[in-house]
Amino acid sequence: MQNFPGVGVSPGRVIGTVRQMPKPISEPPAGEQLAPDTTAEEATAALKAAAQAVHDELKDRATHATGDGKAVLEATALMAKDTMLIKGAAKLVARGVSAERAIWESGSSVSEMLHNLGGYMAERATDVLDVRARIVAELRGVPAPGIPASNTPFVLVAEDLAPADTATLDPNKVLALVTAGGGPQSHTAIIARSLGLPAVVAAVGVDELRDGTEVYVDGAAGSITADPDESLRSAAEAWAATASLLAEFTGTGATADGHQVPLLANVGGGKDAEAAAKLGAQGVGLFRTEFCFLERDTEPSVEEQAAAYKSVFDAFPGKKVVLRTLDAGADKPLPFLTDSTEPNPALGVRGYRTDFTTPGVLDRQLEAIALAQQQSQADVWVMAPMISTAEEASRFASMCADAGIKTPGVMVEVPSAALTAEAILREVGFASLGTNDLTQYAMAADRQLGPLANLNTPWQPAVLRLVGLTVEGSRAEGHGKPVGVCGEAAADPALAVVLTGLGVSTLSMTARSLAAVAAVLKTVTLSEAQELAKLALSAPSATEARAWVREKLPVLEELGL
Ligand code: PEP
Ligand code: MG
Repeated sequence: MQNFPGVGVSPGRVIGTVRQMPKPISEPPAGEQLAPDTTAEEATAALKAAAQAVHDELKDRATHATGDGKAVLEATALMAKDTMLIKGAAKLVARGVSAERAIWESGSSVSEMLHNLGGYMAERATDVLDVRARIVAELRGVPAPGIPASNTPFVLVAEDLAPADTATLDPNKVLALVTAGGGPQSHTAIIARSLGLPAVVAAVGVDELRDGTEVYVDGAAGSITADPDESLRSAAEAWAATASLLAEFTGTGATADGHQVPLLANVGGGKDAEAAAKLGAQGVGLFRTEFCFLERDTEPSVEEQAAAYKSVFDAFPGKKVVLRTLDAGADKPLPFLTDSTEPNPALGVRGYRTDFTTPGVLDRQLEAIALAQQQSQADVWVMAPMISTAEEASRFASMCADAGIKTPGVMVEVPSAALTAEAILREVGFASLGTNDLTQYAMAADRQLGPLANLNTPWQPAVLRLVGLTVEGSRAEGHGKPVGVCGEAAADPALAVVLTGLGVSTLSMTARSLAAVAAVLKTVTLSEAQELAKLALSAPSATEARAWVREKLPVLEELGL
């Protein structure tokens, strides 16, 4: 049995066979000519056959898909036979250009044309680029890019996953996610938790595993074992039994002695919100509004935004919904708001800062939020991402007041905001700790980089100290303003206990983690949670902080978390 250690980011123990995510298709070199023994007619025929094969494959997948996925696959299948795309490529082939290069160039022209048409057409521009890569893969005889299609469930192994991959990831077909890169705060981790899939990131060497190899994945321990033995098979069977025990959440987060810690959901749109409500979320602690518009080249209208926001508010009538204004930039670029040429995007004009360079977008978003709020029953709170100073918090609060928004708040994800929480909370009504970014900025470690995964964990005592300082700031001078956590840290049941002990008032996470967090939280009293928080703060390292706390929470092992 060969073992690949990594960082566990979403619990679960499963056995399955490996499917490697194909490498992205490289651009055929400019000026690439037809091979000397190939005629233009033969190359054109091969090109058409490849386009037909891509069309048939996508069409076939569409027949097995439902909802949005089906519509996307059908539209992409049609694009593979687009006359302008194929004729454009055939013309280049007739001039001696290789079929691969010809379809690449033709794809660029069609995509640019669609882009320039704007609106719905512009949104099809990326479909053309996807189709062209698939046709090149077919011509080269290599696997098509994107998540592999399969009729049987498999363990997906990739370098890392991007937010766009979620659209094509069928949780019924994927047993677990394993990546060679990525970190605990990477998108792979976020996607895995939101789908309830066991996942391990930063597992060096897994890219060498062959398709079809049987592996055991332990998403809590953070390890992958090839060719598992009987004991690992039993562990996977035992997990399957426990997983069903965890499926239920009673709908109230509290410690053993009744200290209430509302458990909220992180959502990216109306569908997520409906699913979260079904899973018992007590409200929404983070609505990532940029997720509604990731594909957009142009700013959505006020009405369009209001409709998207209302769909989330409507899933939680009478309950709290914390909406975050657009957090564009770094790993979530929005073409209408961010500059793709910035040398250092994580430290650049992202989140609230885009209002410095593109004024107006935030005002219109606040207008849309106010409109959606008037038409719904939810208790709407609005926060800005990437706030660094009390001055920014004050300005954001006045913008909210001008728009008619009553409860303005800020995310605390820049260390300066944690250090000046008292001054910041004088300006706004609440704060929410974004531990994903707070960790990357406190540790100066890019949250997307696998080699930095061990630095990039919210178990770092330095990060826990910043959480504690933020809570202290909120209590100073009797503000008593609520401070929640909406970073991935809240979804780790052991860390959720520590955060409760540090005094945070709510925990917001992907809805799939609610049951596990509730199950562990109810096994400790508030004073025990406070003791565990002290223990974690006193640890010399993140590894020890985690190990020491986990040792005191035997329920984690019982539940396989
Ligand atoms: C965070 O940084 O912790 C957070 C919740 O925001 P995001 O992950 O969307 O950057
Ligand atoms: Mg963030």
